[in-house]
Amino acid sequence: MKLPEIHKLSKRTRIISLIVIGLVLIVTTGVASAVLIRGEDSVYEPDVVSNYQPEPEEESEEVLEEKMAVEEKDSTPEPEPVSQWPVTYSVKEANSLTVVVNKKHKLPSSYTPSLVSVAGGQMKPEAASAMQELLNAASEAGAPMNIISSYRSYQTQVSTYQYWVDTQGQAQADRESARPGHSEHQTGLAADMGNPDGSCRLLACFGDGAAGKWLASNAHEYGFIVRYEEGKENLTGYIYEPWHIRYLGVETATAVKNSGLTLDQYYGVEAGGY
Ligand SMILES: [Zn+2]
Repeated sequence: MKLPEIHKLSKRTRIISLIVIGLVLIVTTGVASAVLIRGEDSVYEPDVVSNYQPEPEEESEEVLEEKMAVEEKDSTPEPEPVSQWPVTYSVKEANSLTVVVNKKHKLPSSYTPSLVSVAGGQMKPEAASAMQELLNAASEAGAPMNIISSYRSYQTQVSTYQYWVDTQGQAQADRESARPGHSEHQTGLAADMGNPDGSCRLLACFGDGAAGKWLASNAHEYGFIVRYEEGKENLTGYIYEPWHIRYLGVETATAVKNSGLTLDQYYGVEAGGY
């Protein structure tokens, strides 16, 4: 229908035509608006934005987990390697004549052997009688000696060791003196021997004198060994102590001496430092 012909139509028809045209215009404007709105939406790309939203959420969860892992690491200190040393013997083991006491094997603090007196000291009965024979034989051989120290209690060793720490520092003290529980003297089977004139008392030069030389050659015949020999500090954990002897019984002492091994090696017992 041509618009110029509208005035030729009846009034009613014109009104209807105008309403129809108006409706067409309204619908057309609505569609145009819808297209425009859709265009704005596409400019803002809401779909893309919504697609991106989950990603940062997933990332933040991962970051959280990482942070938690880091916090767990930070708050949990690296566990100290648990040392199996020292091993503490039972009282029954401590009471054995062949017990091997060193820096890795200790006696219980409560352990006290049965003791008898010998030459001004105290030792287990078997060791005491052997000691008396040794002293007599050495004297007869022109190498007299005496006991400086034999049995020492756990409590005595506490103060003995502390004396060395106080005067020489812990590192040096550990080379020369045993920590409480680690001393052979607590077994009642060990003794420190000295020259009657007091020379070279607890010194390496004791090994160069008559008494020291006699011990190195003959102690095993009386059931004793020189426990800490020269050049074996890395094996025994102690400096050369030609004055320190340990009772084992004649048979074992002789076997250990002939083996050329330390007592620890002879029995395959771990030794060395603490
Ligand atoms: Zn000693």
